[in-house]
Amino acid sequence: MTPTAYAVLDLDAARHNLSKVRSCAPNAKIMAVIKANGYGHGLLRIAEALQPADAFAVARVDEGIRLRKAGFTKRIAVLEGFTCAEEFKELLHYQLDTVVHSLNQLDILATVTEPAACPVWLKLDTGMNRLGFKAKELSSVYQRLNQCVGVKRPINLMTHFANADNINDPKTLQQIDLFNQTLAGFAGERSLANSAGILGWEQSLSDWVRPGVMLYGISPFPDSTGEQLGLRPVMELHSRLIAVKPIEAGDTVGYGGSWTCEKPTTLGIVAIGYGDGYPRYAKTGTPVLVNGLRVPLIGRVSMDMISVDLGTGSHAKPGDPVTLWGEGLPVEEIALWADTIPYTLVCGVTRRVRIVEKTDFEK
Ligand SMILES: *Cc1c(COP(=O)(O)O)cnc(C)c1O
Repeated sequence: MTPTAYAVLDLDAARHNLSKVRSCAPNAKIMAVIKANGYGHGLLRIAEALQPADAFAVARVDEGIRLRKAGFTKRIAVLEGFTCAEEFKELLHYQLDTVVHSLNQLDILATVTEPAACPVWLKLDTGMNRLGFKAKELSSVYQRLNQCVGVKRPINLMTHFANADNINDPKTLQQIDLFNQTLAGFAGERSLANSAGILGWEQSLSDWVRPGVMLYGISPFPDSTGEQLGLRPVMELHSRLIAVKPIEAGDTVGYGGSWTCEKPTTLGIVAIGYGDGYPRYAKTGTPVLVNGLRVPLIGRVSMDMISVDLGTGSHAKPGDPVTLWGEGLPVEEIALWADTIPYTLVCGVTRRVRIVEKTDFEK
């Protein structure tokens, strides 16, 4: 018997998506972004599948340490860098690359006496206004960094896009221009592109690309699916029907009674809820596959269950398979129904959901 709520991972698809990155950016090295537990897919499992990448990127030092402890020797960049001397010590010990984005970090880096102990990615803020130094500070920061014996040369250079998912927004080109102008003449390898850059902005390709969401087969753009871009989705989310019953006109369904039955129909109760990471804000009408057929979600999502309208004449019965996203039901579509982005859906799958690999399970 399959577990009640489970996610199936197709790791061949992850490898396919990595080769798609290679074909989009044939001259770039690939830093595979596997932060946030590999976008919810499982850090170590995804790292293993993406071994052909040239480096990994994670958000936090902890995530890098987990990879090192599991035996991964590949270059690993920490995108948020370190925040204090103690964390920096760990970063050095585990030989992680750090992003440098604040003066506080420069002070700590200046204390290192071992030559070239730490590879760095100096981050320029070209308009995201999150992490990074402003263009006008850049040359003085670069000089200070260059005086640190502990910093490995050449200093690598990076920035991050704010609006690259909107292919009509000129801001990305402005960010690219500012990056190129500010850093002209500086030595060091460069990295700009996230998934949206790789797929939508050829001008953003440089020495290194940093794909995240596309590796998981998900489109970074709001108006397309990964499959339409030649990617293959890695995660499917499944569960089962646990109850089937008729309901009458006038009955309401779920907490708050937000959905009222207009004509007699058959109600299905599915064992999935926000306690599994199914989005609490998925609206009535969100498609769900029951026995492979689309039916609408009705009423509110609870912690452990959702309700669906199976329609009259349905032969569905308790135990029947349900797909929340997967083949025939792109996670991008569910994200639109829940007023969110697919990133949050895959990242949000909780520990209660059993993760199984397609190879040992369904092939
Ligand atoms: C998360 C992240 C990425 C990957 O972004 P995607 O949109 O998932 O491709 C790249 N660079 C930085 C700095 C990030 O934080």
